[in-house]
Amino acid sequence: MPELPEVETVRRGLLPVVEGFVIDSADVRRPDLRWPFPDRMADRLAGQTVTALRRRSKYILADLSSGETLIVHLGMSGRMLISGRMPGAFVHDHAPTEKHDHVVLEMSSGARITFNDARRFGAMDLWPTATLQDHWLLKPLGPEPLGNTFHEDYLAERLKGRNTPIKSALLDQNVVAGLGNIYVCEALFRAQIAPRRKAGRISDKRIRSLVPIIRDVLTDAIAAGGSSLRDYRQASGELGYFQHTFRVYGREGQPCTTPGCNGTVARITQSGRSTFFCPNCQT
Ligand SMILES: [Zn+2]
Repeated sequence: MPELPEVETVRRGLLPVVEGFVIDSADVRRPDLRWPFPDRMADRLAGQTVTALRRRSKYILADLSSGETLIVHLGMSGRMLISGRMPGAFVHDHAPTEKHDHVVLEMSSGARITFNDARRFGAMDLWPTATLQDHWLLKPLGPEPLGNTFHEDYLAERLKGRNTPIKSALLDQNVVAGLGNIYVCEALFRAQIAPRRKAGRISDKRIRSLVPIIRDVLTDAIAAGGSSLRDYRQASGELGYFQHTFRVYGREGQPCTTPGCNGTVARITQSGRSTFFCPNCQT
């Protein structure tokens, strides 16, 4: 499932062939994904210039010259593929349209953008740019973890007295937007905080230490995604999925990588999701 760094990688991959270019045509091949597409979506996209390509949490936002913004969520299995002529890069031949290619955009840059989603948990919507923050998917979101409004004082205040496990508190999109299961596990590991500890019972100093750690975890992953972008130009044209080594996630039964710790990574289930952690150094 794509998390914030994967979505940011997709955005950066699309940027050079989408931002500033016109959507020459839009082929919307089914009425819905997770939810119905907006009315006349193809007509409302065709002929519009993408004036900015932004990201909020795990949503890609394409501002259009019409004054609307296309909101894209990759869901569980959504993929973006670029084919055609790309400035300064290799040419990817257009693949024949596949069963799960649901939306195809032909850009004036010469690129074709194909949104493929086998499980159809993805979503697209159109909304006036001026009131985008009121869209029902964006309205509940807390601050961006890499933005200025996410800082030590904020996190300490939000978690004060909270009786939920710290892992659940960090997954709450209203506390911080876009943090998912993998990167919360990685951040708690680096902070050496046990995932089951009640958020409100962790010392102020340790809660504050999470802010730069969360930023580092995400920044490292975005950097890994950036390297993958240099490779995709020679490979399939698919954006956003990249090899990234995790320090704790997916390493059940393996030795802890914290220097001086001889613990073994364990896995538990919290709120239906796997948590990986070291019971020895995460306290
Ligand atoms: Zn350890």
